[in-house]
Amino acid sequence: MRRPEPKPVSDAPAPQTAPCAGVLLPRPLAGAYDYKLPPGCNAPRGTLVTAPLGNTEMLGVVWGPAEGVVGDNRLKLAEPLEGSPALPPRLCDFIDWVADYTLTPPGAILAMALRSRGAFEPEARRTAYVKGEAVPARLSQARKRALEVAADGLARSISGLAEDANVSPAVVRGLVTAGALVATTLPEFAPFVAPDPAFAAVTLGDDQARAASALRQAVAAEKFSAHLLDGVTGSGKTEVYFEAVAAALSTGKQVLILLPEIALTAQFLERFAARFGTRPAEWHSDLSQKERRRVYRAVMRGEARVVVGARSALFLPFQSLSLIVVDEEHEQAFKQQDGALYHARDMAVVRARIEHCPVVLASATPSLESFVNAAGGRYVHHRLPRRHGVAELPAVRLIDLRKERDEIDAAVRAQWLSPPLRAAIAETLAAGEQAMLFLNRRGYAPLTLCEACGHKFTCPSCATWLVEHKYRRRLACHQCGYEIAAPNACPACQESGTLIACGPGVERVAEEFAAFFPAARYAIASSDTVQSQPHTGPLEVQGPLRAFARQEIDVLIGTQIVAKGHHFPHLTLVGVVDADLGGADGDVRARERTFQLLHQVAGRAGRAEKPGMVLLQTRNPEDAVMQALGRGDRDGFYEQERAFREAAAAPPFGRLAAVIVSGYDGEAVREVARALAKAAPAAKDVKVWGPTPAFYALLRGQTRERLLVQAGRGVDVQAYMRAWLASVKVPSAVRVTVDVDPVSFF
Ligand code: ADP
Ligand code: ZN
Ligand code: ZN
Repeated sequence: MRRPEPKPVSDAPAPQTAPCAGVLLPRPLAGAYDYKLPPGCNAPRGTLVTAPLGNTEMLGVVWGPAEGVVGDNRLKLAEPLEGSPALPPRLCDFIDWVADYTLTPPGAILAMALRSRGAFEPEARRTAYVKGEAVPARLSQARKRALEVAADGLARSISGLAEDANVSPAVVRGLVTAGALVATTLPEFAPFVAPDPAFAAVTLGDDQARAASALRQAVAAEKFSAHLLDGVTGSGKTEVYFEAVAAALSTGKQVLILLPEIALTAQFLERFAARFGTRPAEWHSDLSQKERRRVYRAVMRGEARVVVGARSALFLPFQSLSLIVVDEEHEQAFKQQDGALYHARDMAVVRARIEHCPVVLASATPSLESFVNAAGGRYVHHRLPRRHGVAELPAVRLIDLRKERDEIDAAVRAQWLSPPLRAAIAETLAAGEQAMLFLNRRGYAPLTLCEACGHKFTCPSCATWLVEHKYRRRLACHQCGYEIAAPNACPACQESGTLIACGPGVERVAEEFAAFFPAARYAIASSDTVQSQPHTGPLEVQGPLRAFARQEIDVLIGTQIVAKGHHFPHLTLVGVVDADLGGADGDVRARERTFQLLHQVAGRAGRAEKPGMVLLQTRNPEDAVMQALGRGDRDGFYEQERAFREAAAAPPFGRLAAVIVSGYDGEAVREVARALAKAAPAAKDVKVWGPTPAFYALLRGQTRERLLVQAGRGVDVQAYMRAWLASVKVPSAVRVTVDVDPVSFF
């Protein structure tokens, strides 16, 4: 769309009514607002405009026809941006879909799609120099060299040319003054190089080739299909979906690869570059404003052919997608836990449907939802049952901590590493191989207690225990980031020397490890900055992981950060310090998650020629999850879990939606929660539970109550929720949040 020229006055003047449109603003408002457009302007859906709201001008998007009276002169004027950029209409449809499904105002979803300040402004340009006509009178050796380099016709900055010609910038400037180099302008950003599908193709094994060929065909069909790429760790899932990416590149369209933020590592980007000859565009929370602008623009123009990103990349303005891949599709991190509560894996399937392209969900431990969808034929199921090459799946052994207990207590200072685990570590180190110790708990100890009076250190605004971080000498709340210096005396009884650390975190396991293996080189990998968000950036843990990959250390002791996607060829032993941790938080997915996490951790061992071994320390060796892990019976576990969920009408056999009521005034919160429970309409196949205090009943000073809607598969949960919530008046100091398909019960 182009901004129209003012029309000349015609002889038969048509009735002049200004065109108007519904404009959606990136704010959590109820919907689009009517605005007037400049005379003669015909702005289709997606057109970006600046629109006044109150005293400010803001970016908005033409969403549809105006709702009110056409030609209403009281409407304010919205103006298309210079150059008339527009969001692709399919992105607008996607935004509407997500808003509707998650019961979020569409403007709040739009805000996620516009999250690049300045991407729509005219592009800045930078000055560069090319060889001109004039030949300077005086031609020094340095000047000659610079002109020789410039003879290739490429435009370079002054410093760029100086560097390439190995001369000083002053020499280059001199040539500019002499007219031998002339200025030109270049785009602000270097363009993205198109990945080369044939750059370094691999020869696939039989199973791999079968899956790859099916995926290539799905890409070529240019219509929606959903695929579960289900293969054990190391089976070559990445290589297989790279083949689908290669096929997609040949269509001329774009590709989106979604990874959990934590797996978005330099290692993955390098691997992509090794296969396709160039790095993909990346999109995640660590990008600078400038880089964000560069990627956003390039995606909108169709120049960025492949984007590898975290969940928010789903809302980028792709011109046309030919493939979406969701790697590690089972990861809970795909669920956005604040703001708009959407599940990026599920919404990726929706976007693929809207874009008429295939979506590939890859995992070694699929979510039960995807497993059931594949079993029921809704997703095409591609299995890769074997590791690539000679690598064997590791043997898994359970260590019954109840039996080892006496011995553990008797051994000097040994509390967390049982004798069989220590023996295995010693053997591994003696063989010159690497070991990994896994404990999904950051810090030194999860609880600090006064031996004299029983005082426990808790967070004043979350009612959670403060976790000791010994290296930083702090006690920290992992929910809100509250911290205090580790005290010497008890604040309750003033005794000193009475504070004891209870339970282990990775730092404490490392301390014990170092006491037993003083000569071993080890490091801790954990996102040890205290989190104020559900996840931290992927970059800060790269140090220890890289050192481990380079064999600069022998043992890596880490939290779940070490469980994902890394390839360590010399890692042969994985010790899980507490396999029972996290199995008891009482939500429907607790067993599934424990299984997935431990299976992933186990999968780190023996990925190359050397066979691997996994030792799980547990107090519940009879537990179904432990048994399945011990037998290596993944499908057995899934069948059992599926039966269990089906009997409980739990997802995916029933639908859930949570309502979280929160606020600083506890009494007001409880009152709203009770009113909601009372107002819940009776409906077939719908049950409403609660209110009950949420798992974090006090979080950052706010009281939190929960209600849970459990509905049959055929129920229109969104319609039910809308009717219900509209019937209760909520005071402004209380917040009611809806979480459709909740994955955690915090
Ligand atoms: P997954 O994603 O299933 O864990 P990967 O794709 O990472 O598996 O493959 C594991 C390792 O085996 C990687 O180093 C990968 O490059 C290698 N690999 C897998 N398939 C092949 C193949 N056909 N040819 C060469 N190397 C392969
Ligand atoms: Zn005390
Ligand atoms: Zn706190």
